[in-house]
Amino acid sequence: MTETTRQETLGFQTEVKQLLNLMINSLYSNREIFLRELISNAADACDKLRYAALDDDGLYENDSELRVEIEHDSEAGTVTVRDNGVGMDRDDVIHNLGTIAKSGTAEFLQQLSGEQQKDANLIGQFGVGFYSSFIVADEVTVRTRKAGAPMAEGVEWRSAGEGEFTIGEYEREAHGTEIVLHLKEEAREFADDARLQGLVRKYSDHIQVPVRMPKTETAKDDDGNEIEGSEVTTWDTVNEATALWVRPKAEITDDEYKAFYKHVSHDFSDPLTWSHNKVEGKLEYTSLLYVPGRAPFDLYERDGARGVKLYVQRVFIMDDAEQFLPLYLRFIKGVLDTRDLSLNVSREILQQDPQVDKIKSALTKRSLDMLKKLAKDDEAYQTFWNTFGSVLKEGPGEDPGNREKIAGLLRFSSTHNDSATQDQSLTDYIERMKEGQQKIYYIVADGFNAVKNSPHLEIFRKKGVEVLLLSDRIDEWLMSHLTEFDGKTLTDIAKGDLDLGEVEDEEEKKAQEETARDKEDLVKRVQETLTEGVQEVRVTHRLTDSPACVVLPENEMGFQMRRIMEAAGQPMPDVKPILELNPEHALVNRLENADESAFNDLANILLDQAIIAEGGHLDDPAAYVKRLNGVLTA
Ligand code: ADP
Ligand code: MG
Repeated sequence: MTETTRQETLGFQTEVKQLLNLMINSLYSNREIFLRELISNAADACDKLRYAALDDDGLYENDSELRVEIEHDSEAGTVTVRDNGVGMDRDDVIHNLGTIAKSGTAEFLQQLSGEQQKDANLIGQFGVGFYSSFIVADEVTVRTRKAGAPMAEGVEWRSAGEGEFTIGEYEREAHGTEIVLHLKEEAREFADDARLQGLVRKYSDHIQVPVRMPKTETAKDDDGNEIEGSEVTTWDTVNEATALWVRPKAEITDDEYKAFYKHVSHDFSDPLTWSHNKVEGKLEYTSLLYVPGRAPFDLYERDGARGVKLYVQRVFIMDDAEQFLPLYLRFIKGVLDTRDLSLNVSREILQQDPQVDKIKSALTKRSLDMLKKLAKDDEAYQTFWNTFGSVLKEGPGEDPGNREKIAGLLRFSSTHNDSATQDQSLTDYIERMKEGQQKIYYIVADGFNAVKNSPHLEIFRKKGVEVLLLSDRIDEWLMSHLTEFDGKTLTDIAKGDLDLGEVEDEEEKKAQEETARDKEDLVKRVQETLTEGVQEVRVTHRLTDSPACVVLPENEMGFQMRRIMEAAGQPMPDVKPILELNPEHALVNRLENADESAFNDLANILLDQAIIAEGGHLDDPAAYVKRLNGVLTA
């Protein structure tokens, strides 16, 4: 080899050091994945070169048969993974093999607990990539040259994975990348033909690029003795090397689908389900979409990776093509291969191409159908819902056209079982509706306990009318876009007048009207006393245990949403609540008979308590405490 020039030693980015440390310790039992990661990178590099060569086939440098090669030397204890893909220049190497470019890395690392099993899972979601080499190697050498660059610009990178790496330049004939792992003593088992072949089959069968391994044959003489010096090395393709999605469905095993999922998603664990479709006609595409079993670490990040891997006529075009799925389905992973786009399509073009919208709406339907099918398996669907439910809740707002379909996929907590697990569908609810009940009732509050114990529920519990219990941050926003399902109106029981419709009989209604008339004076008096804090006072029959509650007018933004907006720095116009009094309650009776000053205190206490029960904040908590203590010590 020629001499190495411009040699320098650089430190890894802090995050890389942390990751290396954690990975080496926590992925020990999964260490064979290093090979999958290196082959995956090599295959990506081949894909990238094929794509770049569409514009300039000189980049192939007369070597257009893209491939990955794996060799080992059991005596030296090395494994080499080589590709004739796109390669890297010096800056690429420093950037790609010295930093972690993904956003959110720091946050991710903070989540790691030091508990091996948990961390192994998290790291799996993160995609360990190239650095996984150091799980099995105590020294890694990377030699590479960017396709199309002068031979003098070969780059050599070396590191023991301990905080720094050395980089230099040398003359390199072949473009593409070669990675040599110097195996740790206890990982030498990987320098073995059968072991390597097994791993290639296990992890990389579905990769389009051939993965080859050398086979040495020695000629034998008539007596069966090997003839010295007659060794001939041939290269055998070890993997299937056809794009998985191109093969007929019937020929693909579940294990192959799962292995392919791991390749596209960087996830260690199995997907929950998948849907593989070939479409011919006006649109021509093949899609293979997966529902993961767990959330990527950047699910809620604005610039988190999402979308499908895009191929045009089997040529890889880009990762994370996000134009083909709506935001609320950003957890879906997979591949789209189409004939309807040109090979030199760019992200900018994707944003304007009308074909893209058509495919997007088709993939959206596919995904929703896939979820509907998954919902037949309660356990799997619950896993899905617990992981991605709050993302799917963005759906009705984002995609009005599919509102009904999405609504059918939603799951809620409910007074039916009072469980914090969101496991009830709207269809379940409708099946259980009482005779004469026309509406689907729900209530929203901050936190499950607050919502489960809300005073608004009292009458519903008494009458055995089910109410959906909503306590996710996004819930109020969701419900503002979801006003109907299956012809039934969805009604917030903390807003507007209580109307239980047919569930109440005529007699009850009459009795209520009578009480209301009875209490007219009291209501007026409370109204005058609390005029600054409430817009209206009325008696209610929605309470059985509590003396009072606050409600908002029908079309006001709910309490929970207001608090979220305020927390986000959005000033909200003041809206005074309606105070409702329980005419049957002892405290309300006491109020009726109180003298002037006691009346004032008690009325204020009832209002403040009702606000607190709603999860709200008092403007003047000290005044409340003082009044309450006054009453307690009276
Ligand atoms: P990821 O593949 O998820 O991007 P990796 O850690 O596996 O993360 O790789 C980091 C980057 O290093 C890749 O994105 C790629 O740019 C570069 N890289 C790694 N291996 C190769 C290779 N064999 N050829 C060209 N580039 C490579
Ligand atoms: Mg990778």
